[in-house]
Amino acid sequence: GRRKAEHELRVLSMAVEQSPASVVITDVDGCIGYVNPQFVKISGYTLAEAKGKKMNIIKSGYMSEKIYEELWRTILSGQEWRGEVYNKKKNGELFWENISISPIKDRDGVITHFVGVQEDITTRKEYERRLIHEAHFDGLTELPNRLLALDRLSQALVRARRKKQMVAVMYIDLDRFKMVNDTLGHPVGDKLLVEAARRLTSSVRESDTVARLGGDEFLIILQDFQGESQRQIVALAQEILGLFSNPFTCEGKEAFVTASIGITIYPDDGDDATVLLRNADAAMYKAKGEERNAFRFFTPGMNQEAIERMEMEYHLRHALEKKEFSLHDQPLVEAKSKKIIGAEALLRWNNPRLGSVPPDRFIPVAEDTGIIIPITDWILEEACREAKGWQEAGEAPSLRIAVNISSRHFVAGDLVRAVSGALKENKLSPEALELEITERLLIENPGKALSVLYELSRIGVRLSLDDFGTGYSALSYLKEFPFQTLKIDRAFIRGITIEKKDVALVRAMIAMSHGMGLKVVGEGVETEPQLELLRSLGCDWIQGYYISKPVPSEQFRRFL
Ligand code: C2E
Ligand code: MG
Ligand code: MG
Repeated sequence: GRRKAEHELRVLSMAVEQSPASVVITDVDGCIGYVNPQFVKISGYTLAEAKGKKMNIIKSGYMSEKIYEELWRTILSGQEWRGEVYNKKKNGELFWENISISPIKDRDGVITHFVGVQEDITTRKEYERRLIHEAHFDGLTELPNRLLALDRLSQALVRARRKKQMVAVMYIDLDRFKMVNDTLGHPVGDKLLVEAARRLTSSVRESDTVARLGGDEFLIILQDFQGESQRQIVALAQEILGLFSNPFTCEGKEAFVTASIGITIYPDDGDDATVLLRNADAAMYKAKGEERNAFRFFTPGMNQEAIERMEMEYHLRHALEKKEFSLHDQPLVEAKSKKIIGAEALLRWNNPRLGSVPPDRFIPVAEDTGIIIPITDWILEEACREAKGWQEAGEAPSLRIAVNISSRHFVAGDLVRAVSGALKENKLSPEALELEITERLLIENPGKALSVLYELSRIGVRLSLDDFGTGYSALSYLKEFPFQTLKIDRAFIRGITIEKKDVALVRAMIAMSHGMGLKVVGEGVETEPQLELLRSLGCDWIQGYYISKPVPSEQFRRFL
């Protein structure tokens, strides 16, 4: 009896020792009591090292904690747990195991140990991963294929719906690609597709998807768009067309191809992936049919807007050299005496084709394209020259001129240099120049804005906060930034004689500004009662149609 039992035990122990699977035995708390040689071989931990430790020595940290919770719940309830777990060897290498853990119970049914049997399945997992990759990625370009693209698009739509954002889908088809294939051969065609994929990928953000739908068709999914986005989409579409303006050199041969792009936008043009893709395809066909090397929006209205914008951009680029800009001056007067103390220079654009374009329309385009920087440099020069003219005429030596500065200038251009250059060139004293800055700027890039504003105030120019009340109106700006003047937006002035609330707001703005040593301008004053009321509230300066509309600078000169 005992002999037989001992023999059986020895066989059993040899079987465990020589098992091709890793075997681990732990106590009820999960502390390791035994590991077999295969475990040592795979994990890199010796029996001595593993003994007394918990199984988490091989935890990779890449599995969800939920899995471990479920594992413990199962085995503590006396049942076997099976699963695939990603683990870590002593040397840090990761590997997949198929694990089964069973409780061992004594005669009374009380759990005394757990035994785990593990099989390394890394090779199988790798193979699966490769299959999945092949099912989702294009073998030639390594881009996501149609299947994955549709999946990504659906996910993007779910997110956009939740975050109330837009998604743009660009369907891109190469023009005359077939000709390249036919004349230069398929290997050249393949190289061209790979290069095209590379160029497309480099043109988008990391969060966007570039996919190959098949043949010479690509798809771009752009996420995280809000409101103002159409302009960005147009800019990107133009950039993509530009990517194809350089020839493709493949195996010493040069090939030229252009692209046609169709664009759809969620939620305007559809709210599911298939519909958006189909509509983008339709828009692409239109682009190809009408002119090639072009883009079309699915919604016709957007095309109109995009075309107008492109036209405006084109003319804006040449407006400076063609001398199409001029400055109008709007007087700034003292509220008490109505005496002129200066003027705001406002930009006017007159183009032979587009006519006179309002600044609210062309300035955003000039900002987006960066053209605003040379334009503002020109305005600064003009304005300083003008102010010097006033002073030299001796009429009004203390008059100042105000110039609007766009946020773009703070980030991209060298504003400080442009300002000091214009002052020096015209020998104008810095107090005669005021720069108007909107709140939006401070919100977008407070750190950068602060340092530029302090540099400017060191030069000695005056700074005023424009359109106050229309943006975030955080009072903290006034404390932190070196402004001398606050301009209350005309939206408040308009209602001041009708709405009690507006009076209260304007009174508070004035009191607060004065408390911080700032002067206040009421903008857009159109009537005598508005002027009277502002004066009674202690407003320092006034600007508006009631005094004068913006007028050509020669005319302003005659006012003086
Ligand atoms: P802003 O800086 O707040 O300029 C005041 C605007 O209000 C001007 O419009 C002016 O004509 C208008 N305005 C003045 N008084 C009255 C009034 O009593 N009633 C009404 N209804 N409007 C009045 P404008 O010239 O069309 O300029 C619009 C905006 O375009 C400006 O707002 C400014 O943000 C921008 N802008 C104009 N010129 C320039 C410039 O040279 N550079 C930059 N960066 N932006 C400029
Ligand atoms: Mg202004
Ligand atoms: Mg304003």
